Amino acid sequence: MKIQLETIPVWDGVREGSECFICSLMKKAEEDAVRYYLSSAVMTPEVRVETNRDGFCSHHFSLLAEGGKPQSLALVMDTYYEESKGIYAKGFERIQDASSPRKLEKAVSSFFSSVHEREKGCLICSRMEERLVRYCYTVAALWKEDSEFRKALEESKGFCMHHTEELYRVAKEALSGDDLVQYGKFLFSLLERSLDRVQHDDWWMTQKYKSENKDKPWNGCEDAQKRAVYKLIGEGRVIDPVSR
Ligand SMILES: [Zn+2]
Ligand SMILES: [Zn+2]
Repeated sequence: MKIQLETIPVWDGVREGSECFICSLMKKAEEDAVRYYLSSAVMTPEVRVETNRDGFCSHHFSLLAEGGKPQSLALVMDTYYEESKGIYAKGFERIQDASSPRKLEKAVSSFFSSVHEREKGCLICSRMEERLVRYCYTVAALWKEDSEFRKALEESKGFCMHHTEELYRVAKEALSGDDLVQYGKFLFSLLERSLDRVQHDDWWMTQKYKSENKDKPWNGCEDAQKRAVYKLIGEGRVIDPVSR
């Protein structure tokens, strides 16, 4: 598989000193993808074929709704509804024709199966996933080729739990044999150390709320409770990319 390297954003990321720079890059990827589906791109027939067919996951539909671009979104929603109408017509008819509770139950359940099928796949998640794969691939490639990068990563705060899984999954495309084994161990030792560090910061926050520690320094733990959450779940998550 030929994957384009994203050396500059990944190097900038490792230098930013956050709990997971893949999270930062993915939040940006999410913003870019939302902006794209609220831009004039949705005026083009090719893009509307996609939005009508695949749509978005509930999280990204709500980001579109709050994105402040009523005209673009109205166009997307109008034809999305039109396409849905064709898909749901039969189901509506069956519900109206039901002559017993059992038949109604069957018709409603089949109606919602088609709704759940319609909800599958998200174009914003798909665009994000392309970037995620490139970022994760680049981390593995730079780790192998560039000793300076390896050192910077070693000294960084590592990655969140969620993106460690992605980094390992994509590493299997970039590395093999001993390189893969060493990289895998490296990722998980970084994760184990980071989890301990974040827990320690969170613990210090609990101590800071005790009156005897009131005047002691925060040691950078003012946001430890949030970091403890996001270190596990990550940010800018890809939820449901379109599978074709
Ligand atoms: Zn992350
Ligand atoms: Zn999505």
